Amino acid sequence: LPIHLQDSTLYRTQSYINGQWVAADDASTFTVDNPSTGAIIAKVCNLGAAETERAIDAANKAQKAWRARTGKDRAAILRRWFDLILANAEDLAQIMTLEQGKPIAESRGEIVYGASFVEWFAEQAKRVTGDIMASPNASNRMLVMREPIGVCAAITPWNFPNAMITRKVAPALAAGCTVVLKPAEQTPLSALALAELAERAGIPAGVMNIIAADSERSIAVGKVLCASPIVKKVTFTGSTPVGRILLQQSAPTVKKLSLELGGLAPFIVFDDADIDAAVDGAIVSKYRNAGQTCVCANRLYVHAAVYDQFIEKLAVKVRSVLKVGDGFAQAVTQGPLIDDAAVAKVQEHVKDAVDKGAKVVMGGKAHALGGRFYEPTILSNVGEDMLCMREETFGPVAPVVKFTDEAHVIELANNTEYGLASYFYSRDVGRIFRVAEALEYGMVGVNTGLISNEVAPFGGVKQSGLGREGSIYGMDDFMELKYVCLGGI
Ligand code: ADP
Repeated sequence: LPIHLQDSTLYRTQSYINGQWVAADDASTFTVDNPSTGAIIAKVCNLGAAETERAIDAANKAQKAWRARTGKDRAAILRRWFDLILANAEDLAQIMTLEQGKPIAESRGEIVYGASFVEWFAEQAKRVTGDIMASPNASNRMLVMREPIGVCAAITPWNFPNAMITRKVAPALAAGCTVVLKPAEQTPLSALALAELAERAGIPAGVMNIIAADSERSIAVGKVLCASPIVKKVTFTGSTPVGRILLQQSAPTVKKLSLELGGLAPFIVFDDADIDAAVDGAIVSKYRNAGQTCVCANRLYVHAAVYDQFIEKLAVKVRSVLKVGDGFAQAVTQGPLIDDAAVAKVQEHVKDAVDKGAKVVMGGKAHALGGRFYEPTILSNVGEDMLCMREETFGPVAPVVKFTDEAHVIELANNTEYGLASYFYSRDVGRIFRVAEALEYGMVGVNTGLISNEVAPFGGVKQSGLGREGSIYGMDDFMELKYVCLGGI
């Protein structure tokens, strides 16, 4: 193995179908690399349409017995999975940094965050309730039951290789659904390690199936998952264009979909804000995971009265806290970008901004380390016409725009098809309510740059998605309501 693990059996390269570790029918494999060095770290079995059909079949067969179990039973099994994830947290974090590149401290944090969804939904499995309604007809009694929707397909991205899986699989399993999951081609090892622990936890064969595939076969796998009449639901986290494809592909079978898509988070600093707190918030929101999260601040709007002060303090802080390098190296807080295409996109956004008149306060170029490393970047004199203000940059670039008027900045913040996360800093209680209510976003962070946890309903409005993950609402997406009317009473 390219890294030392306490338990090397967590390093899996085969897929997991019906409780069996399997290779591709045609023995095809694809390579996974370490984004920090470009070195190949694994050859992973490259499954396709036929294997996906078998996984759906297995999930379908397993569904009957899994849904028939009590919520308490399912809770106990999920709880064992949670315990095993935490017991193996260091190995899981090492695997994550190896294939994803994020600093090891961030990987450790993600394992705990990812596990929190398993713990939470293990608890929620025991709390599924129904209703008895007051009937308008005296001889009727009306009941509403909650039932698992059935076999679910899940497709996940590379930026949170662990937590995006647990946030989908845990509520599905808690509800009594079974799952066929296709992880991102860049980070299949974290997914397969989770499957190994699921097996050890006693999750029965067929209940959770993992299909790893390269980018080309992922498209075929996605088509099979969407077209299958057995699959009742697709849950996806990734880009808005792919979300649209899945929505379209699911139309013929009228599936339920949960979509967590792109964002273009505004981060607004008003003139009454605590500027030091806003700088700290901007750093965690912007530069976490090298800017590669869908809730990262994409556009910073700072009031003219505090604009120069904010930029100066942000630059000082970025210089002092951000250390770029290999995720395993001491004190590193910003790893590489995931692949060459990601670097090219960041370069394109910065070039476009500079061509249109933006000023590079710091960074603005590839890091001296080379490869996929990019310097933490701050741009000032930014205008709305720049690409970095219209599209998700997904990199360590902070474009800072000057504004003067509250109503106008809200208009600018809302002027996008996206509506995932938003942030603002203010100490005026009236403004806090006004702005929080006016922002057309699924999530609003006020005086904080970090908002995600298992208790919060995570999700977007507009073209950022459908449905909510985590929280007391997170299981709803995996359940159907059944109305039962008893007559003749
Ligand atoms: P990103 O830009 O973050 O890589 P994508 O939306 O391209 O986001 O990828 C997220 C997930 O969607 C990955 O697992 C990827 O393999 C998968 N994916 C990409 N294109 C398709 C498709 N056409 N059908 C099904 N899955 C897809």
